[in-house]
Amino acid sequence: MAQLTDRLLAVVGGRSAKPLSEHLGIDTVGDLLQHYPRRYETRGQLTDLAELVPGEQATIIAEVRSVRTVGMGGRGRSGRTRGGLRVEATLTDGVGSLAVTFFNQPWRAKDLRPGRRGLFSGKVGEYRGKLQLANPQCHFVDDADDAEAAEIFARELIPVYPATGAVASTVIARTVKLALQMLDPVADPMPPQVLAARSLMDFDTALRTIHQPDDQQEARQARRRLAYDEALVLQSVLARRRHHAAGLLAAPRPAVPDGIAGDFDGRLPFPLTAGQEDVGRRIADDLASAHPMHRLLQGDVGSGKTLVALRAILQVVDAGGQAVLLAPTEVLAQQHHTNMIRMLGPLAQGGLLGGADHGTRVALLTGSTPAAVRRRVLLEIATGEAGIIVGTHALLQDSVQYADLGLIVVDEQHRFGVEQRSALLERIPGERPHLLVMTATPIPRTVAMTVFGDLDVSTLTERPAGESRVVSHVVAEREQPSHIDRAWQRVAEEVAAGRQVFIVCPRISDSDDEAAGTGAPDDPAAPPAATHAVMELAAELAAGPLSGLRIGVLHGRLAPQEKDAVMRRFAAGPADGDGVDVLVSTTVIEVGVDIAGAAMMVVMDADRFGVSQLHQLRGRVGRAGQPALCLLMTQAETGSAAHARLLDIAATNDGFELARLDLEQRREGDVLGAAQSGRRSSLRLLSVLRDGSLIEMARDDASAIVAADPDLIGLPLLREAVVAAEAAATSEYLEKA
Ligand code: ADP
Ligand code: MG
Repeated sequence: MAQLTDRLLAVVGGRSAKPLSEHLGIDTVGDLLQHYPRRYETRGQLTDLAELVPGEQATIIAEVRSVRTVGMGGRGRSGRTRGGLRVEATLTDGVGSLAVTFFNQPWRAKDLRPGRRGLFSGKVGEYRGKLQLANPQCHFVDDADDAEAAEIFARELIPVYPATGAVASTVIARTVKLALQMLDPVADPMPPQVLAARSLMDFDTALRTIHQPDDQQEARQARRRLAYDEALVLQSVLARRRHHAAGLLAAPRPAVPDGIAGDFDGRLPFPLTAGQEDVGRRIADDLASAHPMHRLLQGDVGSGKTLVALRAILQVVDAGGQAVLLAPTEVLAQQHHTNMIRMLGPLAQGGLLGGADHGTRVALLTGSTPAAVRRRVLLEIATGEAGIIVGTHALLQDSVQYADLGLIVVDEQHRFGVEQRSALLERIPGERPHLLVMTATPIPRTVAMTVFGDLDVSTLTERPAGESRVVSHVVAEREQPSHIDRAWQRVAEEVAAGRQVFIVCPRISDSDDEAAGTGAPDDPAAPPAATHAVMELAAELAAGPLSGLRIGVLHGRLAPQEKDAVMRRFAAGPADGDGVDVLVSTTVIEVGVDIAGAAMMVVMDADRFGVSQLHQLRGRVGRAGQPALCLLMTQAETGSAAHARLLDIAATNDGFELARLDLEQRREGDVLGAAQSGRRSSLRLLSVLRDGSLIEMARDDASAIVAADPDLIGLPLLREAVVAAEAAATSEYLEKA
């Protein structure tokens, strides 16, 4: 008899086990039994051929419609005569059809009698624009001599496994069957009272049933149980993190009555939005607690997150602590630094003549801060003279010593890894600082619960400057060349009216083909059309349609001082003698950049960018609530999927709506992968998009289990799975670092 941990080789023999290990990484009985069926075919029913995807390993039930043998004389494209015989058959599901070709297997012609039904496994290819299977494995329903076929068709539901060219689904099914026959009853990792309360199947039954269900209903119940286990392990990991965090101590930083924070609120030129007010109160309470705050603030582009962060920062400074604002790019760090100093006015001139007597100092530290300045800044940080420190991940280096770090704010969290975030916290010994992470990429609740499950989540839903008045249009470059001329003309008009214009390209220059845009769910098979590049386009525009305008360029390869200088001149804009009117840049301006006077953006090759990326980019214009224009230029043809996607984006300014659109277009793995790798491997059945209620259930159960028994002493099997998941998350992070 066998256990889940046994080597598969010892249980089913080398001939079956070796290819599974080599091609699918399946080494133990447990690995094999966790290789779940992708779907089930029903013996009596034919597979819908319209659902086949080219490139996929498919197993289908179909009927032979016709067959013919093509003789020796067939000519290849080169004109040479190809040797051998080819048997060509057409399969049907009663509606559509599928071509099947066998090379050099003349006996197949006899088997493939019209009207016969069978199971065909192979890779779906395309030939002359039509789907086909080449050399598939065949098992006929009515074949009394085919022992394997008899076995396969013994069941009403035939499991179809994720397979490879080397290991067909039917081979996996046979090995699974063998392993299940040998398998001892498996102990249940879950507490029986949870199973009863949630009406879940027991583990042993579920594991057997998912591979050999009697009907779809049973298959669904087995899947539900096993997916729940995945959710529970994940939520237990998160519940343990929350439990651990609740046990940590932080210095309480309660609001003080006559501090900078109050002065600052008094100086604000506008009232807070209700959301800012509300989230602000929560954060103020969190900061006053003796346990570290762990809060995620999500809000669409332009919802005013920075102000919420700044008010939290000031509360901490008032309480005698320091606060760090971490930005993902130098451009953004620089901008935050400049803006904060501007907004704080005399409050940011602590210790200086003319500064407020209870003021503080705002320091900036990035990877490119010159050595001499860096030494001075490090000293200001170490002595506590600088109450607010803005920077990039340079702030995470060990050489940075804080006098009394009370709060870390991470801006544009989606640009940082989750593990990077915890590494930051763990770097600081003793009492933990409070943590506020911010993101403009809103995510649905169950995804947030899974990806950010160890954080409390707050959301800003309104935009202080009013609804975004950015109007977006898609321009098909190839089909509407006159629209391109019109676009440049419009750029010139904007500048003449005193406003700045962004032009965004996916690449820096023609001499490198490394794309600057990422995340575009482009068809990878499509030939790479030449995309626009910053350097060449800037030169072209300066020599042609935009001659006379002051054009600046910005991209990641510029020295930081150059970036800084061009951003400053762009911020100054057309009104300034030394200003820049038009900024041609890569996506370095994607996050957070705030140029109030910018009212137009042209995104070149917009189809190269992801949904949320385009939304972020577009959020750079119309920041002051003025009407603004965004042109999404594309070389994709009207009617293509890429063009349609851009139309969808142009049609709405609602970040949450777009996030949904984005998620729908991604595959499950990418959802977690983008935000948190290291989880993918443990989620085989669970879908964070579709299994919302299961995840909520598991979250409640995990919280209760962990509260009663944080180390899971009473549930050794669950503990084992949780520890393994924790280790996997850590090791993935270590590998990447
Ligand atoms: P995001 O959430 O995208 O980071 P910001 O914090 O950059 O948004 O804020 C967007 C703009 O709105 C900024 O110019 C900011 O000064 C302004 N703003 C923030 N809060 C308010 C408010 N309550 N009333 C008016 N304008 C505000
Ligand atoms: Mg921001």
